Amino acid sequence: MQQAAAPKISFVSLGCPKALVDSERIITRLRAEGYELARQHDGADLVIVNTCGFLDSAKQESLAAIGEAMATNGKVIVTGCMGAEPEQIESAYPGVLSITGPQQYESVLDAVHRARPALHNPHLDLVPPQGIRLTPRHYAYLKISEGCNNRCSFCIIPKLRGDLASRPAADVLREAEKLVAAGVKELLVISQDTSAYGVDLKYAESAWKDRSVRAKFLDLARELGEFGAWVRLHYVYPYPHVDEVIGLMAEGKVLPYLDIPFQHGNPDVLKRMKRPAAQDKTLERIKRWREGCPDLTLRSTFIVGFPGETESEFASLLDWLSEAEIDRVGAFKYEPVAGAPSNALEGQVPDEVKLERWNRLMAHQQAISARRLKRKVGTRQQVIIDEVGPTVAKGRSKADAPEIDGSVYLSSRRPLRVGEIVTAKIDRADAYDLHGTVAGF
Ligand code: SF4
Repeated sequence: MQQAAAPKISFVSLGCPKALVDSERIITRLRAEGYELARQHDGADLVIVNTCGFLDSAKQESLAAIGEAMATNGKVIVTGCMGAEPEQIESAYPGVLSITGPQQYESVLDAVHRARPALHNPHLDLVPPQGIRLTPRHYAYLKISEGCNNRCSFCIIPKLRGDLASRPAADVLREAEKLVAAGVKELLVISQDTSAYGVDLKYAESAWKDRSVRAKFLDLARELGEFGAWVRLHYVYPYPHVDEVIGLMAEGKVLPYLDIPFQHGNPDVLKRMKRPAAQDKTLERIKRWREGCPDLTLRSTFIVGFPGETESEFASLLDWLSEAEIDRVGAFKYEPVAGAPSNALEGQVPDEVKLERWNRLMAHQQAISARRLKRKVGTRQQVIIDEVGPTVAKGRSKADAPEIDGSVYLSSRRPLRVGEIVTAKIDRADAYDLHGTVAGF
């Protein structure tokens, strides 16, 4: 007997790009089994909330999303980082159907099956071979590993996600190939620690086309560069072997862009943070990278007000930023995440000091970022188009990752298409964005 209608699931995805990839995997499986996605909680058969538990503010956002789903629908499955510690969710919303941690795809699917069985005859061809993506068609996140072997004192991700578990290189390359064949023009490589890729596999080789590829950061980056798409590397740490990838950037194989969460510039604070590669001479390394690849764009994040941070340690961070000339910076005030070892450190910094330092850092860095951006005025840049408006299109240069960096606003003689890569002449810069004219298609 045939079922009347496919069960409809409303999905909320919170958190970082890694969580987004988890959501995409769950949705791909659900669509493969014949479930449909609903636009609203109201009227859906079930709601799945993929939560983020990284900071207390993210937990609050996750709890609010669960609360809304409970109020408007009532049949709610919770997964993701916050699900690794279910007590808080259980006590706030005892009626939640199931709670699982990150990457527990099978458990989420089991919970869905229990609550609302799939159609009897799922049409597997409902799903395109590259899976279902939540990002626009022209760019996609490519997750190369899960978990992390580091133990930064402010972070509970290894507790939530476990130790590093890398995907074999051929697996990653197969996914990348499918994405590019489906129209993706930009691959955003993500993980918790991209430069550590393959350590857990002892860099094992896997068969790809007519050759074997080692599960190694450099080898994978080189192979990804062969697809002809933009390849952007996120969450890289300044280990010595990163130097080798700079050569690929200079050759144009991968984008001259590195997203490195330095978190601080002072060696003592970095030691207290237990940051990987903290002992390395990072400023010298950055200088060498820029010599090897003058177009290199560096993006980073920093924490201000880490326990014990003195005024002079903070001042040395500002000096470090002046010297490093990082192009794009995000800054966070330290938040004591429940379960993080740094909470037990002495010298917790008062909130008003954190705020004052945060304001100083942002003002200090804004001048650096603006200066670096201004150097682009008068140059020609390749721009990938993200949105098309009636008079101006919005895109990104090779220096801009989606969602976190700036934009390039372009006027053009002919209509542009989303996902198209054009050459633009840059006419002016403001604090974060560039403005220009299309000069070539
Ligand atoms: S590198 Fe540090 S901050 Fe990043 S996930 Fe691993 S432990 Fe957490």
